[in-house]
Amino acid sequence: MNRSRRVKILATLGPASNSEEKILQLAEAGADVFRINMSHASHDLMRKTVKAIRNVEAKLGFPIGILADLQGPKHRLGKFRDGSVPIKKGHVIILDSDPTPGDQKRVNLPHPEILEAMKPGHRLLVNDGKVNLQVTEVGDGWAKTKVVSGTDLSDNKGVNLPDSELKSGALTQKDRKDLDAVLQEEIDWLALSFIQRPEDLAEARKICQGKVGILAKIEKPLAVERLDEIIEQADAIMVARGDLGVEMPLELVPSIQKKMIRKCRKAGRPVVVATQMLESMITSPVPTRAEVSDVANAVYEGADAIMLSAESAAGDYPVEAVSTMNSIAESIEQDKGYLATIAAQRPEPESTGADAISFAAAEIARTLDLAAIVCFTASGSTGLRASRTRPEKPIIALSPVAATARRLALSWGTKCVITPDATDLDDMVDKACRRAYHEGVARPGERIIISVGVPLRTPGSTNMLRIAYIGSDGKGSVHRSV
Ligand code: PEP
Repeated sequence: MNRSRRVKILATLGPASNSEEKILQLAEAGADVFRINMSHASHDLMRKTVKAIRNVEAKLGFPIGILADLQGPKHRLGKFRDGSVPIKKGHVIILDSDPTPGDQKRVNLPHPEILEAMKPGHRLLVNDGKVNLQVTEVGDGWAKTKVVSGTDLSDNKGVNLPDSELKSGALTQKDRKDLDAVLQEEIDWLALSFIQRPEDLAEARKICQGKVGILAKIEKPLAVERLDEIIEQADAIMVARGDLGVEMPLELVPSIQKKMIRKCRKAGRPVVVATQMLESMITSPVPTRAEVSDVANAVYEGADAIMLSAESAAGDYPVEAVSTMNSIAESIEQDKGYLATIAAQRPEPESTGADAISFAAAEIARTLDLAAIVCFTASGSTGLRASRTRPEKPIIALSPVAATARRLALSWGTKCVITPDATDLDDMVDKACRRAYHEGVARPGERIIISVGVPLRTPGSTNMLRIAYIGSDGKGSVHRSV
């Protein structure tokens, strides 16, 4: 399928969209990667959804990425005797380990690790931040809190803890079971929720053994503080603005988004901007002007992917939401100022052969006005380096490994193709030219630049650039070394 935009679209699937028919419509409308939210999907539903996506992929003939998003440690209050209690500023309520239903004086917080971690001054944000409690005193198995704002507390409401570092890691028992099920399927990315520190990625990485890429959702202030180390440990990052906007002042979220995109681009890690991008489209066929600007902003910042959550999972207009996102992205990328903005933020190449080659390819393609940059990538690393340069010309990433091509579906500008390995250099030029021609990126007589590692099939060996002409039959007719 011919996409004319570089930024990728990540669409969350749910009751409004997880049938094969709807997934096909979403992919045709522009979805490049699908997210399965393990907070809501049973293992059976997850397996069915993966199967449906892979059927659509076979029908459309291009690699589609799948991201499984683990719930992570989601914390909730216990129950009240009457279901809820009224509160107001200054009200004092104790949170404790006693499972007896609560009242105006006390309520159960069934998470010993939170009671252990809270200190006077720490905040507890209940029900998406609608209630703000401040800890005033702590003891063994209890914490006294004062209401800073809010009007009522009710059964099982979610709790966010922006100030407390919990000893528990990022994987809960449910996550471990979900992860076991995820690893049985052809899933490409695993998202970890509520990570607090870089070490939180280690356990998942050990279990996954490279079978999936690990995406760290940044939604806690502690994770923002240790962003550089987390970026270093992760394969991709998500600006998870939903919980981030609960745990941090909302007005800080835009600058954190910019900082995260800048740092991820520098490190060459795909970065996804998520949550409420087209929120009003849950119930309306058209977005608000502000939402259009929000999507446009993420595209101008050079994010790898922009994400739809409830809009595509549970809304009334899932296909319209994807095609609206697609139209906004296409329109922004056609703006003359777009590539200049992206280029102005381009990070310097790192001092590695692969990076120097990738930058040289982008530069040569621009100087000679070549039709495309074609890279052969088995592990995906060369594809990622090419994407990091955010070149003016299209990138075609050829991989013999389906999982690599699917994983690269999340990366800015990479048009991924699964193709058998080249047998020798002539075959490589031939394959690159044919693909550029068949993908509609290069016409006969135009030239492309090819980056490759020699000896062929040696991971991490990218060391050569080649310019080739597209012959009249789409083959590489003439080529010469640079
Ligand atoms: C978010 O908080 O922005 C997010 C993407 O996480 P989830 O939708 O899983 O809560």
